Amino acid sequence: MSGLHVTAIIAAGGRGARVGADRPKQLLTLGGVPILQRSVGAFLRSPRITDVVIALPEDLAAAPPAYLGDARVRLVTGGARRQDSVANAFAVAGRADVVVIHDAARPFVSDALIARTIDAAIEEGAAIAALPVRDTVKRASARGTIVETLPREEIYLAQTPQAFRANVLRDALALSAADRDATDEAMLAERAGHRVKLVEGETRNIKITTMDDLTMAESLLGGGMSSMRIGNGYDLHRLVAGRPLILGGVTFAFEKGLQGHSDADAVCHAVTDAILGASGQGDIGRRFPDTDPAWKDANSIELLRRAGAIVRTAGFTVANIDVTVIAQQPALAPHVDAMRANLAAALGIEAAQVSVKGKTNEGVDATGRGEAIAVHAVALVKMGSGVI
Ligand code: MG
Repeated sequence: MSGLHVTAIIAAGGRGARVGADRPKQLLTLGGVPILQRSVGAFLRSPRITDVVIALPEDLAAAPPAYLGDARVRLVTGGARRQDSVANAFAVAGRADVVVIHDAARPFVSDALIARTIDAAIEEGAAIAALPVRDTVKRASARGTIVETLPREEIYLAQTPQAFRANVLRDALALSAADRDATDEAMLAERAGHRVKLVEGETRNIKITTMDDLTMAESLLGGGMSSMRIGNGYDLHRLVAGRPLILGGVTFAFEKGLQGHSDADAVCHAVTDAILGASGQGDIGRRFPDTDPAWKDANSIELLRRAGAIVRTAGFTVANIDVTVIAQQPALAPHVDAMRANLAAALGIEAAQVSVKGKTNEGVDATGRGEAIAVHAVALVKMGSGVI
């Protein structure tokens, strides 16, 4: 199958009046990125795609946005109807073996769905992404009363991509001059007598036609990587005689303890900095300054609890924490679970979301000589209060 020239046609010729915005809907942004850029990007990233032809409204084609400047992208002016736009694009796709057509308004198309549709078209001649209906389907009269209930196992909702061997699409488009009402290319291929295969579409592959769709798309996006933030924390305290050793809220039986203004719990301090850093809320020194007598001998688990509240107030949920404690002595392993439980409780998360690991420094440097304990922590936080 490799070596085939596959051209993607992105139908972006519409004005998108239904969205009710002052711009064509494909130029509206989703998570700060134009919908058109997302849709085109999905095809440019696909290893199956050779080149991309985009049908745009005339003014946009004349002055295209910079993100359409890829060497593999060609622009054409859209026509009055969708199939006219596709025909204009197909006219410059002369060398294509397979053409895959996609609505610019479906920015969430996956690489797997693009590949599935192309593979089925290579085999069958034509294939479209479609979803089986889950609701009961009624056919209604013009007055809005039910005429009949249709067998839903026979009903599919067409999406794009829709892929065609070039000869099949040529046949289909030859019909379109007479057929004025095709809402997708598959309809034309069917009328031209070609068999069209259905491949399983994706529920995420929504078409953005209204403001409600745009809101839903923003929330779909909110569940992804764009809402993740990572933070790093580091702390080191000297080990001195005459102080208790407290790490992650656990008091160790050890001859020395960590020196500091508070209880010097370096694990809590590193985790506090990691979650504050991840959510852009400063650092422990700014939030709980050691010049403030309020924090003298402070319980650092309590500081962490307060930092957790700051993070939540800023709109984030802690997804997970990973901690590495560098201490030549004492052995951490017997207390790791207790530390995890304390950290989790302070942050209002599960112990399973918290990892604590101990390392010696192989006798090297101050931590290796037992003069200090150092802690590294990484935190991942997610925007919103949902569960990952
Ligand atoms: Mg500290």
